Amino acid sequence: MDLGIKGKRALVCASSKGLGRGCAEALAEAGCDLILNARGAEELEKAASEIRAKYGVTVVAVAADITTEEGRAAVLKDAGDIDILVNNAGGPPPGMWSDWEREDFIKALDANMLTPIALMKTLVPSMMDRGWGRVVNITSQSVKSPIGVLGLSNSARAGLTGYVAGTSRQVAGTGVTINNLLPGIHATDRAVSLDGGVAKAQGITSEEAKVQRCKTIPAGRYGTADEFGATCAFLCSTHAAFIVGQNILHDGGGVNATF
Ligand code: NAP
Repeated sequence: MDLGIKGKRALVCASSKGLGRGCAEALAEAGCDLILNARGAEELEKAASEIRAKYGVTVVAVAADITTEEGRAAVLKDAGDIDILVNNAGGPPPGMWSDWEREDFIKALDANMLTPIALMKTLVPSMMDRGWGRVVNITSQSVKSPIGVLGLSNSARAGLTGYVAGTSRQVAGTGVTINNLLPGIHATDRAVSLDGGVAKAQGITSEEAKVQRCKTIPAGRYGTADEFGATCAFLCSTHAAFIVGQNILHDGGGVNATF
């Protein structure tokens, strides 16, 4: 299917690997020019040159911490007009509800709520002026079904979800759509690290922790960054113009709910 976004400029935050990388690849395959971002310059440059070579699109790589004001300024400095914004950052660490202090919450809010809001506030107005734009926020299945040990993520992402619910409907009339894409478990470094935490807590191997977790997913496996990226690219396509303010699970059926 032609996604109708060839030549659009997409900023994909936190995209040297994992889900962000999957989104970047799918948008590049659809013909978008990219701005990629991550903190680690080496892995980011490697991702940028691989994508350039594979899809023949323009890729600018900006190594910066997207959760800081300076980092966002560096990413936006020469970004020009952005048509597609994919918001993403690392997820907060797991822990126990009674251990988190104010500072832990501020960090989580900065990364997973206030950063995407700041980028939307900066970039959506020019999308509205041009009459077309797409925003996809990578959040988590924990928005629909809380994961106890990820209380910082549950909290911060719920805040972003509330903001998007109202804002997306305010801007939809200008041709700009904002939606959230909610990953369940995907085979990325983040999943490996969470499996490592479970293994340590339960005295089992990481592989056993993975097998145990796969049993909780009706699809019987972890998702892939490619599948996730393809769904993101569809949400950014011309075909998805009528999808507004939605929270779309990509979880292999992991969240057991009717709606
Ligand atoms: P990942 O494989 O660890 O990749 C994270 C990517 O983000 C890397 O490119 C990393 O590069 C970059 N990054 C992290 N912090 C950053 C920052 N502050 N500024 C700029 N770039 C940053 O993680 P993932 O699995 O793709 O997860 C992406 C998001 O989805 C996370 O918020 C995660 O909590 C959420 N999620 C993931 C899953 C899953 O199963 N994978 C499930 C639910 C939710 P650098 O380290 O070099 O910066």
